[in-house]
Formats: sequence, structure tokens, C-alpha cells
Amino acid sequence: MNTQPVATAPRHSLRSRRWLLWGALLLLVGLLLGVLVFLAAEYEEGRDQATLEHDAAQVASDIRSELFRNVQTLQSLHSVAPTDGSWAAPAAELLGTHREMVRLEWRSNSLALRAHRDTPYLANLTDYLNREQALPDVRQACDNAKRLSGPAFSPSYFWPVSGGQGLELMEMCLPVVRSGVANGFLIVTYSLPGLLSELTNKTLLRGRGLSFIEPDGTRLALHSTVNNNRSTLQANTLLDLPGHTFMLRMESPRQAVGLFPNVLSAVVTALSLALLAVLALLGRDMRRRQRAELDVANALAFRKAMENSLVTGLRARGMDGRVTYVNPAFCQMVGYSAEQLIGTGLPAPWWPPELIDEYQQRQAVRLAGQTLPREGYESMFQRSDGTRFPVLIIEAPLIDAQGVQTGYMSAIIDLTEQRRVEDINRASQDRLQATARLATVGEMASLLSHELNQPLAAIASYATGTLNLLGDNTQALPHEDLQLAMRRISEQAERAGRVIKSVADFVRRREQVREAVAPQSLIDAISPLLGLQAKKQRIRVHIDIPPVIPLVLCDRTMIEQVLLNLARNGMQAMPDGDPPAPERVLTLSVSQPRLQSGVSMGGQAQKSWVEFKVIDRGHGLSADVQAKLFTPFFTTKTEGMGLGLSLCRTVIEQHGGALTFEPHPPRGTVFRFTLPVA
Ligand code: ADP
Repeated sequence: MNTQPVATAPRHSLRSRRWLLWGALLLLVGLLLGVLVFLAAEYEEGRDQATLEHDAAQVASDIRSELFRNVQTLQSLHSVAPTDGSWAAPAAELLGTHREMVRLEWRSNSLALRAHRDTPYLANLTDYLNREQALPDVRQACDNAKRLSGPAFSPSYFWPVSGGQGLELMEMCLPVVRSGVANGFLIVTYSLPGLLSELTNKTLLRGRGLSFIEPDGTRLALHSTVNNNRSTLQANTLLDLPGHTFMLRMESPRQAVGLFPNVLSAVVTALSLALLAVLALLGRDMRRRQRAELDVANALAFRKAMENSLVTGLRARGMDGRVTYVNPAFCQMVGYSAEQLIGTGLPAPWWPPELIDEYQQRQAVRLAGQTLPREGYESMFQRSDGTRFPVLIIEAPLIDAQGVQTGYMSAIIDLTEQRRVEDINRASQDRLQATARLATVGEMASLLSHELNQPLAAIASYATGTLNLLGDNTQALPHEDLQLAMRRISEQAERAGRVIKSVADFVRRREQVREAVAPQSLIDAISPLLGLQAKKQRIRVHIDIPPVIPLVLCDRTMIEQVLLNLARNGMQAMPDGDPPAPERVLTLSVSQPRLQSGVSMGGQAQKSWVEFKVIDRGHGLSADVQAKLFTPFFTTKTEGMGLGLSLCRTVIEQHGGALTFEPHPPRGTVFRFTLPVA
């Protein structure tokens, strides 16, 4: 499956989209924080500005009310009819307590000066400039006062004093009425700086600047300034007095100039920084996560590739028997898709219907037993199309991360192919055996013809004798002779028939069954054939079987062939004259070896065995021959095929036994093999 390139493209776009989202998020958070900090600063500044404006209005109203209180105090100067002389003392006292007033004048209705008094706090007020210079302002104020029938103020004007200095002054004119008749004016000259310093609440002014200004912003009188005029808050307010309106400016330094203008902004900034830090941490976490995701994706791809490449079927089941996972190989085996299989319980869809009961029981036993055999067990499955196939199942418990068993994982191997190969092997083995048998018979053809010749010759001569008897008409027929001749003929024919039958039996018989066979019958079966060769080579065959010997479990045809092969090999090792006549013996012996305790054969100590031995007195085996003895097609004989011993060993091993050989002193070799007791 070629999923790799398809998977990387979306992963790329996913990653770039993720980065885009993070970029957008960072930008938005940055913007939001900027706006927040800005708004917080604005809010703080707006609040400060409002406070300042409120305070400025408060100061203006303080000055105004103080000025009107002064008006009442001034009216008390004229509550009793003063004379020019009696006016001076209370006027001086008044000037002493009110520093904002720099001069008091009592003028007539025509504004002629009747009495006056200067403040004791400011020497030589009129030294530099004549008082008459201020008369226009006085007149303007008094005109207004007359019109308003109350106090009125003049605009301010600059009044130079000695030393190049000067101060801003203004006039207030208060009409004096005596018994309903206008009795001149009381003129008060106020100093604007004096108003600011004397008539204001000092606590409101702490750290702030306060001044009178002109509409264009020019300062008229200054009470105080703030240190840093580069970043100050300003509030202008009107001091509305009858006759004239002044403008008052209050200044306040912007609080905490710089990065943190105030606590709120500082808090917002700190929170923003914290947020940024959290974002950075989140970003790092995301990067780690991405890396982990990538690792997991790689591991998954690796696992997927591994699963897809497996030819072994994998299947996981929960504890309730439901399928939780199948790999592609398993799906292919049983012919269902993963979607069809996952979630299915018992009986499984791949169980042959007639075996469901057996499988259910087997499943229950296995689950109850807890232990799962490591070597697995064989079973039969059914594909979706109904065909059957053998499988080998190896199961292991599925343990989760907490160490709890959650089910079973099974590896399933399809044995179809293996079985087919086994069948082919078996068939070819069988064919080989049959061929070897035929070859054996072929090799023995000359012996057979010799053996058959004798009865045939005997039959022929008996027949000729009989004919002669029948042809001689002169004598009476000797009844007994004829009978004897006929009996001999039939005996010899039987003998020939037996020879042919023994060969035919040997070649034809082919049942593939293991059966319990008496060792004696095995030897009996081959002895006619054996006798042919033995007779030709003048070898005595000695058979040694104890009276009581158990039956062996074997395929008799095959074992007969093994015995025949070994016996023929033994006889062939004793060519004519070697060894001399008395020693020309071939022994076939059968025995049951007694197992020593602790010694086991093939790991099965309980099993008992029967041992067959074929002993010859031949030339023995050289080291070179011993090394190649069981190699197929190894032979030292001109007419040999070299298959006999290798086939013998295969047959014996198929029966669970073993074929060995050893020298048999003083001369000859012994071949021995074992067969299981039935
Ligand atoms: P073949 O009999 O067709 O040669 P075998 O596999 O039966 O094939 O025997 C292989 C060889 O082993 C024989 O050619 C012979 O040299 C040697 N051999 C077998 N049995 C004996 C024996 N009893 N004594 C000496 N040599 C033997």
C-alpha cells in the first residue's frame, strides 16, 4: 500500500496552517494587549484629568466665595458712618489680615480720592507709577458697580514696581450707600498672585501648578508650577466675577511618566507579559507535542508497514471473545474485510458450522486453563466462500499498560501450502519407495528366472515321463506312477506360483497403514525372496526370534523392504569364497532391549522398543564408505542404485525409530533398527 506520499502532503499543509493560526493568535493577543495597555493609560489619564478639572473648578469657586466674603467684610467698614480719619484704622487692620488686598481706597461719587491705605506687606506700591494710571480700570469697575448696584471687578493689568518687577492687579469697586444715598465707592485693589495664594485650599494645590491666564494662554499671575512641564495635565476653568471673567489654569504632572504610568497599566502590562509567557510555554508545549505526534505517526506507519508485510494473520480478541483487531493477512485468509470482522463475537464467522460446538468447548477449556501453549494448536477454518483450510494458531495474552489482561492476541499461520508440500513429499517418497522396490525385483530377475527354472524343468520332465507312460500301449497303465507324476507336477507348479506370488506381493502391496505386526511375520514375508539369493550365494540364513516378543507398530510393506534391503546388502558383502563356507552366515535377529533406568530413547522413556539386527560376516565398511553410507545414490556396486540405505533410514525415522550400524568383530557388520511396540 502506497500511503506515504499521500499522508505527507496533508501533514505539511496541516503544519503550515497550525503555524498560521499560532501567528494569528500571537498577533491578536499582541494587539489586544496593546489596546488594553493604551486604554488603561487613557482611562487613568482621563480620570486624572477629570480630578484636575474638578479641583480647578473647586479652586475657582473657593476664590469666588472668598471674594464675596471679603465684600461683606468690606461693607462692615462703612456700617458706621466713617470719617476720613476714622476709616484709616479699620482699613489698615483689614489690609493686615487680607494679604490678597494691596490697597483700599474710599472715593467719592466722582471718584475723587477721599482716603486710602496701602498693604503693609508691599512697600512703595506707587513709587514707580502714579496711581492715576490705574484710574481707567477703577472707573470701568465702578461704572459696572453702579449699573449692577453691587460689587464689580475690573480686568487685570500689569503694575510695575521697583526693581524691574511688577505684578498683575485688578480693581474691585463696591458702591457705598448711606441711608439710600450713594456715598462714594470703596475700591479694593487685589493682587492676582495674592488671590491664588491666599484664597485657595492649600491641600488641593499640593504638587500642582496654578495660574491666571489670558485666553491665548499667556500667564498673568503664577502661584506655582509643576517641575516637568513636558508631560503635564492641564485644566482651564473660568472664574466668573461680576464685571469680568478670568481664566484659571491648573496643572498637574502626568503621574509616573514612562513604561508604567500607573498601577492599572502596570497590572495590565504585567498580566499581558504573563499571558505572553504562557503563550510562549504553550508554543513550546505545542512544538513538543508536534514532535511526539510525528514520532507516534512514524511509529504507526512503521507498525502499519510491518502489519501489511506480514503473511501471518494477526487477530486480537477481548476477554468476551469479541474481535478487536485483525491484520490484512488475516482478512485475506478468511475472505472477510476488517469491518466485517471487528466486533464479531463467538461463534466466529470463520468457524466451520459443524465444528462450532467443538470449538466453543475448546475455547472455554482454553480460557479456563489460563496457560496458553507456546507451540500453538492446529485448527480448521472456513473462508467466506465456504472452502476450508488448516491453520496453526499461537496465542498470547494481551496485557495493557496497567498490567491487566484485556484479551488474547493470536498469530495464525495458514497451513494449506505446508500441507500441500507435505502431500507432494509423501507422494514422491511413496513413488521412490515403489521404484526402489521394482529395482530390487529387477536386480533379482536373474535369481527369479533361476528359481522358476527348477520347478518348470521338474514339471516338464514329469510331464514328459507321464506322456511316455501314456504312449506305451503294451503295458497296463501304472496308476500309482501317473498319480505320483501328477502330484509332483502340481507341487512344482505351486512352488513356481509361490515364487511369482511372493514377488508380486512384494511389488504390489501398498497399504499406507500402521498396524500391529508380529516381527516373525515380517521376516516370513521376505524369506522366500531372501532364500533365492542365499541359495545362489550358498549363504546360510540364520533367524533368531525369541518365543515371546511383542507386536510392533509399523507399515509392514515398508519394514519388509528395509529388512530385505539390509539382508541383501549383507549377502552382497559376502561374495563367493569370501568368507569361506562355514562362516557364510547371515543372521536376522529380533530382541527387546531392556531399557536402563534413566536412559530414554527419543525422549520417551515410557515407550518400549523392539530391536531388529541384520548381521553379516562380509568385508565390512571402510571409513570412507561409512561417511557416505546414507547419502542418496552412493554405491560401490556396478549394478547398485545407492538408494537402499537412505530410504531405509527415512522409513525407520518416520516410524519414530533409529537405524544405526557398527562393525561386527571378528568380521562383518551389524545394522540395527528399532520399532515401537504396538
Ligand atoms: P546399493 O545397495 O544399491 O549400493 P545402499 O544404499 O543399500 O545402495 O548401499 C550403499 C553402499 O553401502 C553399498 O554400495 C555398499 O558399498 C555399502 N554397504 C551397504 N551395506 C553393507 C554391508 N552390510 N557391508 C558392507 N558394505 C555395505
